[in-house]
Amino acid sequence: MSTLFAADEAKRLLDAAIRGEMPDERGRFGPFGGRYVPETLVPAFDRLEAGVKEHLHASDFQAEFQKELREWVGLPTALTFAPQLSKAWGAEVWIKREDLAHTGAHKINNAIGQALLAKRLGVKRVIAETGAGQHGVAAAAACARVGLSCSVYMGAVDMERQAPNVDRIRRLGAEVIAVESGDKTLRAAIDEAMREWVTDPDGIYYLLGSAVGAHPYPYLVRELQSVIGREARQQMLDQAGGLPDVAFACVGGGSNAIGLFYPLLADDIELIGVEAGGIGDGLGENAATLATGTPGVLQGSYTIILQDDDGQVQETQSISAGLDYSGVGPEHALLQAIGRVKYISARDNEALEALEELCATEGILTALETAHAYAAAREYAKQNPGKRILIGNSGRGDKDMPTLSQLPARTRRYEGA
Ligand SMILES: *Cc1c(COP(=O)(O)O)cnc(C)c1O
Repeated sequence: MSTLFAADEAKRLLDAAIRGEMPDERGRFGPFGGRYVPETLVPAFDRLEAGVKEHLHASDFQAEFQKELREWVGLPTALTFAPQLSKAWGAEVWIKREDLAHTGAHKINNAIGQALLAKRLGVKRVIAETGAGQHGVAAAAACARVGLSCSVYMGAVDMERQAPNVDRIRRLGAEVIAVESGDKTLRAAIDEAMREWVTDPDGIYYLLGSAVGAHPYPYLVRELQSVIGREARQQMLDQAGGLPDVAFACVGGGSNAIGLFYPLLADDIELIGVEAGGIGDGLGENAATLATGTPGVLQGSYTIILQDDDGQVQETQSISAGLDYSGVGPEHALLQAIGRVKYISARDNEALEALEELCATEGILTALETAHAYAAAREYAKQNPGKRILIGNSGRGDKDMPTLSQLPARTRRYEGA
């Protein structure tokens, strides 16, 4: 595995991560992360950082957060053994069911955690960005739950493509603000949200949706999502009688993957993140950031990004809207650089095939994002027979039915499997 560091330095950085010393005081994961933001945003980030320090690990905050996870989100989510898939793959396959969390994906863990934090910070309103609309839905639901007003910035192009989610967000009581600037999609939505945040950092909380951006977001989101890996680890011990040999998760910004991987870093478990391979290997044809990108700064964080030789950030392509992002969380950049996690990609057609197989064999309609993890795990099982495999099932696929229905009827290859 290629790493950026000599073996002893890589080991020192991994040990620090396991001891909970990543990020450091400056928000750094080794060389990655940090806070590269315009001067106007510094006070807002300073306030947020102070709020996180004061509340996140305070026992009363944690008690409230855990209670909401149990009683409203529905945690712990199940760990499901997959007998048919195991037989078909020649492996022992276990699935961590984040699709069973309220609103249908892991995103709600982060949204409710940050909404509770916003309330403690005494803000008047919450703002959020959304691309495909999944984080917008989670943020709107969480704000309704804690009684905060919520505005969701969404690119005009995305609003058209994801009309049902726009409707869902509004029904959950949030306002959707159409973004007509820039590319009119996710990146422009984040820029506009930041612009509003600057105007009133005391009165507004910015609820970011993945483990990306400037410090402290990658840290905050990891802490809120790590419940996935903590639960999965204990459930593997209880139900499978031992830890997995290998764990897979799909990677967009990287929040469900870091949530699953972080509590497993110290264990003897191979960890594999799966990015969107899109339609090909060329720049612009995929969203395989870690697998093919280079270091640079995107949205306040030094990480791996997809850019051309002049440093211009590239458009991405993927059948799954949730993986369609040209950056990735800085902690993943570190975990790749020290060789602890391997990042590979699966193409659109491979993800679709894996989605069909899972659906027909186990009765689980998974999200298109998640299907990438299954495609990679299936390939791995072929090369490494007899392994115990854990897959992070980040979300359910009901939201993808319009996309799936548009595709030509596929061969019913798995019928009767
Ligand atoms: C948003 C989303 C993702 C990608 O986001 P990460 O931050 O990389 O986890 C993956 N799966 C589902 C179901 C999603 O909704």
